Amino acid sequence: MNTIDHEDFEAVIGLEVHAQLLTQSKAFAPVAAQYGQAPNTQISPLCLGYPGTLPLVNENLIRYIIKMGLATNCSIAPKSIFARKNYFYPDLPKGYQISQFETPICEGGHIDIEVEGYSKCIGITRIHMEEDAGKSIHDQDPYNTLVDLNRAGTPLIEIVSEPDLRTPQEAYAYLSKIKQIVQYLEVCDGNMEEGSLRCDANVSVRLRGSEKFGTRTELKNMNSFRNVEKAIDFEIYRQIELIEAGGEVVQQTRLWDTSKMETRIMRSKEEAHDYRYFPEPDLPPIIVTNDLLDEIKEELPELAHIRQQRFIEQYQLSLVDAITLTENRYLADFFEELVLKSDQVKASVNLVLSDVLRVLNEQSIAIHNFPLSVTRLAELLNLRASDKVSSTAQQTIFNAMLEQDSSAQELAETLNLLQVSDSNYMDGLVKQVIDANPDEAARYKEGKKQLMGFFVGQVMKASKGKANPKMANELVRKYLD
Ligand code: ADP
Ligand code: MG
Repeated sequence: MNTIDHEDFEAVIGLEVHAQLLTQSKAFAPVAAQYGQAPNTQISPLCLGYPGTLPLVNENLIRYIIKMGLATNCSIAPKSIFARKNYFYPDLPKGYQISQFETPICEGGHIDIEVEGYSKCIGITRIHMEEDAGKSIHDQDPYNTLVDLNRAGTPLIEIVSEPDLRTPQEAYAYLSKIKQIVQYLEVCDGNMEEGSLRCDANVSVRLRGSEKFGTRTELKNMNSFRNVEKAIDFEIYRQIELIEAGGEVVQQTRLWDTSKMETRIMRSKEEAHDYRYFPEPDLPPIIVTNDLLDEIKEELPELAHIRQQRFIEQYQLSLVDAITLTENRYLADFFEELVLKSDQVKASVNLVLSDVLRVLNEQSIAIHNFPLSVTRLAELLNLRASDKVSSTAQQTIFNAMLEQDSSAQELAETLNLLQVSDSNYMDGLVKQVIDANPDEAARYKEGKKQLMGFFVGQVMKASKGKANPKMANELVRKYLD
């Protein structure tokens, strides 16, 4: 009888994340490294592996990885070297990738992740630099494999975590944090669907309380955050079932199959590459001086967790609102610009958290593509703050602004939404309403103050919704209190 329960097991997970850097040019060649260009238009003799070509390090590759190392609390090696990672594949004309092996530039860091209900510190083993390979295309020609070398030689960093993660949710939170950091640093756009952020997951299981790690498998081919979570979840379950049935986990690389929602074997340990790493003879060691380090520290932006704290103190935001507003650097920038231009904190918070986020969601766009400028939104908030329009009208105008280029003021006029605050007009209107309703006026005077709503309602009706309700309220009080 099987006496081992699923609850008796815990998973051990370590992630290897590749981030494609936003440098203008390639890692070791003076040629553009832009995404989405026509095939084989961003190539140079070096990317093509021509004999006699020599690599030269892109200075921003070094700067960007140091930024990432500092933001993840790594120590930065004063001297590190590049290595050749050798293998043969049609999309790798040189026959090797330039990478780092024995002495990565960043080591021994950590980041905090937030999972539902708790936070946890996750170790970063190392972060190193490497160049990407090209792309083999198998689905465009029925007989041949096509090769696009635009990506060959574009700069990557690989961030390797300690095996500190225990659940698929922790892995998801860790990956989200990495994405947030690279975006804040502006070293990578963090887009997993387009492949600028890629993740391999190493997964093993062991009996709870056991010190020893189980045999791991490595999962590849997960091109979204949700898929990483699902693939790890599937793999943990598969390994536990296997062990419970008396089997053994075999060390292998497995692919996530999105349509079948399962992992399947790609290669076993015996088929694993022997990369025959050796020091790259064409590149000198990377020397990081204290001056360079200080210069880069100066350039570091305010990171999300610090900005979050500042938002809470400076704008009196709740923790939840501060987290939402700082999740994305550009959303936080947008919000702060709106506060600055409108001089209204609370209205800005509400507008961004409700209307702006709703539109981003509905249109599936990023904040930098938001159709309304901060200036136009500030005008809308000012219109409302000066009581020229009601809060319902603000909403109507916001929606209208999405459809046309007119200003908030123009729309308030054309849509007939301007509140009338003219005191003569308002005075006459309120008197007229009181005269027309003598019974209610008498009862109000006797103490039935709830009738205020009735009077303001009548004023609004008589003005066809354009009266300023606050003023109506004040005037009723003036005549009846
Ligand atoms: P490789 O280069 O063969 O992939 P590494 O030693 O660099 O191996 O480890 C890669 C990742 O695997 C790291 O993130 C590490 O935390 C993780 N890892 C190592 N051992 C285990 C294990 N037993 N279970 C889960 N993850 C592991
Ligand atoms: Mg690996």
